[in-house]
Parts: sequence; structure tokens; C-alpha cells
Amino acid sequence: MKNFSRKGAKAQRKPPRGAESPFVSFFAPLRLCGRNFLATTFALLLFLSTTAAQTNDYLFNDSHFHLTNYIQEGTDIHDFLKIMGNKVGRVALFGIPLQQQWSYRVDENRGPTYYLNSDAPLYYYSFTDAWIATAYKSLSKQEQARFDPMITGFNPTDMYAADHIRRVLTAFPGVFTGIGEFSIHKEFVSAKISGEVASLQDQALDRLLDFATEAGLVVLIHNDVDVPFAKPGSEPAYANQMKALFKRHPNTTFIWAHIGVGRIIRPVKEQAAIVEEIINDPQLKNVHFDISWDEVAKYIVATPESTQNAAAVINRHPERFLFGTDEVAPSSQEKYLKVYNQYEPLWKLLTPEASEKVRKGNYVRIFDEARHKVRSWEAAHVKSTMTTEVLK
Ligand SMILES: [Zn+2]
Repeated sequence: MKNFSRKGAKAQRKPPRGAESPFVSFFAPLRLCGRNFLATTFALLLFLSTTAAQTNDYLFNDSHFHLTNYIQEGTDIHDFLKIMGNKVGRVALFGIPLQQQWSYRVDENRGPTYYLNSDAPLYYYSFTDAWIATAYKSLSKQEQARFDPMITGFNPTDMYAADHIRRVLTAFPGVFTGIGEFSIHKEFVSAKISGEVASLQDQALDRLLDFATEAGLVVLIHNDVDVPFAKPGSEPAYANQMKALFKRHPNTTFIWAHIGVGRIIRPVKEQAAIVEEIINDPQLKNVHFDISWDEVAKYIVATPESTQNAAAVINRHPERFLFGTDEVAPSSQEKYLKVYNQYEPLWKLLTPEASEKVRKGNYVRIFDEARHKVRSWEAAHVKSTMTTEVLK
């Protein structure tokens, strides 16, 4: 609705016939095509400003952003565009697939807004995908070009999850670029979800990843490398399962969210060895890492030494890391840029090439490729799938 009224306001701004501005008179020789000329100039200016926002005149592309929170509330996408302003070029856009239930029996009148606020469970909320698609579709074409919406509203323990993803592409062709952020093992969250606990060894996960690969969807997966409060000296619980998962899907483009680190999951220092092992494995060229989340930034820039260590790994392999904020429904630009600013000590230690790739270039490469593949898949499948659905 908001968008319609905005369009209406724009239409009213059009000058009445015969009341052309001095700008048009100045271009009297072009009077015959004056209106077209004005329209073209306006379109060109708009294009140039949009293009500037998408090329160099900004700080970063955001590979990890939640428009809505754990109770499916968030920032209006038009307001979020203003928050991005000329600081952020493109954004991988998603909600949160889990809804925190408000159980009156447990919390009475205290409606929880975060998963740590309540003992009541979380459940998979598939409507998030329709919500994100609708927000995206309310934007102009130029505005849409700055977003890569992602499908998240599936239960990764369900063999039917792949069918949900296919159904979303079919219902909203031309919208989505990837799937995620979805979580398998996540501290404090996994155990709270209604139903079966997710597992990296679940056939349902393989099935949905097979479909993501077929459709060309980029996969943003959250999986803590270890359990909280692991026994000192023990092997990280999920490192091998994660590597095995990546190897079972060599043609899938993965982004491992938060480089596998959590609030209290093994600090970056120990994780660095696992990350480099993956990077150096020729069978795992399809795996990338995002350094999003203030909790990850906290570990990376904790000391000059930790910042140096992280910078050294990134400078050695600049094409494998992406910056993301992991902000959830920010209300101001200051809040939105918090994680970026937190990383200031890291940016200073990266080579110009690495800095450009991590902040912008890798996003463009990975998401442009995925966009192209998904649009091709849709062109080949959506119509026939819809026909089949109707005929069933
Ligand atoms: Zn996130």
C-alpha cells in the first residue's frame, strides 16, 4: 500500500501542460521532444545515482541481513533503503525462519521478542518467505537491483523442505537468489525448536541442498563448529560432519555463516585452522565464509594479535571471505553500520585487494552468478511446474 501512495505522490508532481519549467525553455530546440527529454534526463540521473550506489561509492555489500526478527517484526523495506543510503550497495535479504512462540501458560502477559527471553519453543514460520517476497516486490526495479532475497522458511529435518523451496520459486519467480540463513546446530536455538533436532547427517538436508544446486541457489548455512561448553582439548563436535556435508555437494555454492563461530563457541583462534584446512582442500573450492555478527567481530578484533591472525588468513585467501552485518531489523544507519565500524582494525590490516573483495567484490561475483542461474532455472521450470500443479 505504501508503495502505491508513493507512486501517486510522484504522479502529482508532474507539471501541468503549458507550465513547463525554465529548464525546458532553455532546451527550446528540443521542445518537440521536451517531455521525453526531461523524462530521459531524469531516468539517466536516477540510473547514474543507482549505479553509483552499486559500484564504488559505498562501503560494502551486506551478505547477511535480517529484515525481520524472531517475532516476524522488522523494518519497512522502504525505510531500510534510506538506512542503506549511499553507504551500502547490495544486501542479501531475509527474515528469520523461526518464530518465538508466545505461550501464555509460560510467559503470561510478557510477550517474548527474542529466543533467550522465554522457555517457550521456536517453530518454523514459512510465511516469512512470502513476507520477504512481498516487501521486495513493493520496490521499483532499480531498488530491487540492490537486494538478493533468500528463502529461509523451511524445516531442514523435513524431506519435504526441498518442495517448499521449489514452491517459493514457483510462486515468486524473479525474486530469490539463495537459501538461508538457515541453521542446523546453533547454540541455545537448536534445542528450543519444536519437533526433531536438525542434523548435518539428515537426508532431508541433502535433498534440499540437491534442489538448491539444481536451481543455482546460493546456500548460506549457520552451523556452530562445536557444542557450547565443549570439553577442553576435545575435537570440535561438528567440524568433520560439516566438511563431509560440503564434500557431498561439490557443485553447491556455500557460505558458512560466522565462520562457524558462535557467542560462546570456540574462539576464532582455534577455528582458523579448520577454516584454512577447508580453503586449502581442492575438493572444497565451493565453500566461502562470512565474518558477520558483532559476536564474531568481537573475537576477531579482541587483541592486536587476534586481528593480525585473522587478517593474515584473509589476505592469503581474499576470494573466500565475505563481509556481512547480521543486523536484525535496524532502526537507524548508525545501528546498521555498527559491525562494519567494529571491524575498523581489521580493515586497516587487509591489502587493498583483499579489502575490496571481502567488502564488495566477492558478493557481486557469488550473488550475480546465483541470480543468473536461478533466473535460468525459473525460465525453464516455473511455467511447466505451475501447469503440473494445476493439472494435479
Ligand atoms: Zn544471521
